Amino acid sequence: MICLSGIVKRFGDAPALKGVELSVAEGSVTALIGPSGSGKSTLLRCVNLLEVPQQGRVQVGDEAISFDDTPRPSREAIRRLRRQSGMVFQSFQLFPHQNVVQNVAESLVTVLDWTREEAEAHSLDLLKKVGMAHKAREWPANLSGGQQQRVAIARALAASPKVLLCDEPTSALDPELAAEVVDVLRRLAAEGTTMLMATHDLRLAATIAHQVVFLEDGEIRESGSAQHIFTQPKHPRTQAFVSTLR
Ligand code: ATP
Ligand code: MG
Repeated sequence: MICLSGIVKRFGDAPALKGVELSVAEGSVTALIGPSGSGKSTLLRCVNLLEVPQQGRVQVGDEAISFDDTPRPSREAIRRLRRQSGMVFQSFQLFPHQNVVQNVAESLVTVLDWTREEAEAHSLDLLKKVGMAHKAREWPANLSGGQQQRVAIARALAASPKVLLCDEPTSALDPELAAEVVDVLRRLAAEGTTMLMATHDLRLAATIAHQVVFLEDGEIRESGSAQHIFTQPKHPRTQAFVSTLR
């Protein structure tokens, strides 16, 4: 469902990703772990092309773009690929001047030309899924962090993307509120939502991910099942990193 090959991303002269190869199977969850600055967010942002890699090929669903070819890909090609994924950020980033259901419905109306009625009806269904339908007319500022993040998840899913990208979805939340969000993510995973998630929360990675990828210094050092990475990692850096879990 996601297939990255040879992804190189530099900021100026500094390489942030050095030829990353990664596949995420349809209906599966992959957790990206690794130290701060290892390139987890950059990798996620290369999947939805918020960052454009200098080299490599990005495929999401049926859309693929190679950055090795000239001419550079068209804006339209980038837009099509971007629509294959929805993204959830650490800091929620809801639109403050729109209520909950408007936040979820917004892209359906402005990007996909749905009528507001259709968009809000669909958004209410998604809000039910994340346990937030009762707050549909509330303003984001009046919600807890966990509630805001659940709305942000509904918003990311509004246009029925093929994959859900999550960048540290629980890091800004205290443990109790994080647990609400983890519940929602776990339910989505059980329903077969394809997810790629960067997280510092090794317990979250261990419980939700089919595949765990350890990234360091812009390179994948090791990847495998959660069982493998957390109980018998081969690479010494992975061993040191996951030892904090025990
Ligand atoms: P964290 O765990 O702290 O979120 P991360 O693994 O997500 O870290 P990235 O944010 O992807 O790491 O950063 C990877 C490298 O790329 C870092 O060296 C960072 O300083 C650099 N970097 C990321 N974004 C930019 C940018 N917009 N401009 C310049 N350098 C950047
Ligand atoms: Mg990050």
